[in-house]
Amino acid sequence: MNSGRAAVQTLVNNSQAIVVLGSTGSIGTSSLDVIRSHPDRMRLVGAMAHRSADALCQQALEFCPDWVMLADEQTAIDSSSIPSETRLHHGSGALESLIRHEDVDTVVSAVVGAAGLESTWVAVDAGKRVAIANKESLVVAGPIIQQRRAETGALIFPVDSEHSAIFQALEAGRKQDLRRIILTASGGPFRGWTKEQMKDVTPEMALQHPTWKMGPKITVDSATMMNKALEIIEARWLFDVESDQISVVVHPQSFIHSFVEYRDGSVISQMSPPDMRLPIQYALTFPERIDCPCHDTDWTQPATMELFPPDLDAFPALRLGFEVARTGGTSGAILNAANEVAVERFLNHEIRFDQITQISQEILNNHTFDAHPSLDQLHAADRWARKEALRWNSQTLKT
Ligand code: MG
Repeated sequence: MNSGRAAVQTLVNNSQAIVVLGSTGSIGTSSLDVIRSHPDRMRLVGAMAHRSADALCQQALEFCPDWVMLADEQTAIDSSSIPSETRLHHGSGALESLIRHEDVDTVVSAVVGAAGLESTWVAVDAGKRVAIANKESLVVAGPIIQQRRAETGALIFPVDSEHSAIFQALEAGRKQDLRRIILTASGGPFRGWTKEQMKDVTPEMALQHPTWKMGPKITVDSATMMNKALEIIEARWLFDVESDQISVVVHPQSFIHSFVEYRDGSVISQMSPPDMRLPIQYALTFPERIDCPCHDTDWTQPATMELFPPDLDAFPALRLGFEVARTGGTSGAILNAANEVAVERFLNHEIRFDQITQISQEILNNHTFDAHPSLDQLHAADRWARKEALRWNSQTLKT
């Protein structure tokens, strides 16, 4: 993906100025944990949250960044509760110029959902080092982001644990010798369940994830395996591989974070206890590896590592992932937007669990495909799919 190693070398000896977008979410707080652990080499210069005002103020007090931003203008924030050296921006109007500021080295893009696309685009356009946790950016606009990256010299490092693992395993060989990449999936809380059983899943059940502690959207996506579908698409664009070079295996222990298979049959993986701070830190320190605040593997304990083929009938979202990775164009924007709205409607008890994927499939089938959309056309596709996803109801869906 990046030719990167030489270009990032310059950062190693200087304190890295980091902006964290989505700083109060799960990836955001883990990013701050990493920054907190390395005060000698990392500095938080800006933090943006959507509407968690109190948490954002706490972060401002601890890290004294140059600025903090509360994106949602409807949410009140008390400017007297942040340090006087820290500028407060209420509303996201100034975000673009703050990201583009010459003092900013690195942007951690950890806003949830398609809302993260715009800021990721600006960071790539400005030629920054981008630690990308917002997989939707690549799902929606992978080809144009990669094209712009090549033009501006921006560096994109994956934060998603699977993609970080692939990125690390790819260091073991040459791109032209790569046969396939194999994404691991925990299988979520409904591994082993049948298609029929999925109809009775409630939001409360879906929000319990066995191995990863994450926000509600991604937790539901893990339960439907739509998260893995999005990761298939993300991998397609991040590593520039064809959809038939990507496989998925279910690995409930979430210790092996993904595999890369080379043409000689060698399979290389990256393993570690499930903790997002490791891939976040590697995205910030590559090519260096430094001590990490995350847990080490306990080699004194027996461990079992299981691998299963995924059940595509019980988790049809995976088929959508492969389909969209193959077709590209507007498909990623459509699938992502339809799924986002469907997940919200499921959490509001408006639709059934299995209908999340069903709605996404229907909208994908009915959309007007464009193979080479512009960013504006992708935004339009996103808006159209959201409207469609609100229109579907239990009566119009097959049971
Ligand atoms: Mg992941």
